[in-house]
Amino acid sequence: MKRNLAPGSVIGVPGSGQLGRMFAIAARRMGYRVHTLSPDEDTPTRQVSDVEIRASYEDLDAVREFASRAGAVTFEFENVPAASIEACAALGPVHPRAEVLHVTQRRLREKTFLAKNGFPCAPFRRVRSSAELEPAPAGIGLPAVLKTAGFGHDGKGQRLVRTPQDLKPAWESIGAGEAVLERFVDFERELSVVAARDQEGRFEPFPVCLNTHSQHILDLTAAPAPIDPRIAARAIEISRGIPEAVDGAGVLCVEFFLARDGKLLVNEIAPRPHSSGYYTFDACVTSQFEQQLRAVCGLPLGSPEQMRPAAMANLLGDLWSGGEPLWRQAAAFPDVKLHLYGKLEARPGRKMGHLTALAHRVDEAKDRALAARASLARGERES
Ligand code: AMP
Repeated sequence: MKRNLAPGSVIGVPGSGQLGRMFAIAARRMGYRVHTLSPDEDTPTRQVSDVEIRASYEDLDAVREFASRAGAVTFEFENVPAASIEACAALGPVHPRAEVLHVTQRRLREKTFLAKNGFPCAPFRRVRSSAELEPAPAGIGLPAVLKTAGFGHDGKGQRLVRTPQDLKPAWESIGAGEAVLERFVDFERELSVVAARDQEGRFEPFPVCLNTHSQHILDLTAAPAPIDPRIAARAIEISRGIPEAVDGAGVLCVEFFLARDGKLLVNEIAPRPHSSGYYTFDACVTSQFEQQLRAVCGLPLGSPEQMRPAAMANLLGDLWSGGEPLWRQAAAFPDVKLHLYGKLEARPGRKMGHLTALAHRVDEAKDRALAARASLARGERES
């Protein structure tokens, strides 16, 4: 269902996190109204949206009430129950389409989709029972990574398997349910492509990012990735094919491993804006959130051109362990932008905000983002 939505229209976003918040900021800046649906209270999205319906995602009456007020519905996370997505789709346009969310809701489904459609990914085997566990490494080899068939968040639900003896304890530690055994990739780098696709199929990628994870959580993104332009072009071409294969409109992120032999392997797809695209808010002509809005509203996409090299450093709740971070110190970096998500309680590992540093060279941006983050920590500098 295609519909052009003008400013003033209501966009519905189930969810309550930082991605919804940044989407709402972009949408409200362009004069749209944002309604959210979330089981929680005083959420990052709620704080900047027009209306929040407080209800569970399974409450179909509330979902229908929410969707009936929206000109279109989009998502900030993919794990909305299928019945709720269908309830929204019965009342108006939903982007990305329910089929796209269905593919990306489960790791096994996503990997099967990638392999079937010829996108490069690490070889994997499905494991449904302990009987299927033992033969699984055949054809994949060890070491391998055993992952839950659904999505564990931020590296939860996965274990490295080095020897056949590791298989059983690894499977038990991830819950002994349906799983995927995937070849361990000796990667040189992790890259991602964030891109927008409109309802007519036009595709606008942002520059490829270089990502560094810490304890399975994205820690630092640098863009544009300082890599061979041929690898960047190949990553973009692979990324273009993915939403084409499902005819999806909106923003997507494709995460890649760049293996030591130069091969690119898709690790994961997110059918929505992504933390590795936060830098676009400050560094690109059009941010990933504005692109999502444009795609959902049937507007032409904006330019994804990057105006300055940039780096994003995540701020986790750990930074609060000694008290409130020293915001003034980070503000002393004139080319660093502070983003806080409005979360009321800081817990270790919780994503509280990020910093985006701009510079003339990407390595400079990276150093600046790290220096600004280090300056926030309470320690010797405090007097
Ligand atoms: P995932 O939850 O699948 O995105 O994995 C989280 C992180 O674990 C990735 O960003 C990688 O750093 C690491 N990882 C996951 N799968 C593999 C693999 N097959 N080989 C090597 N590292 C992996």
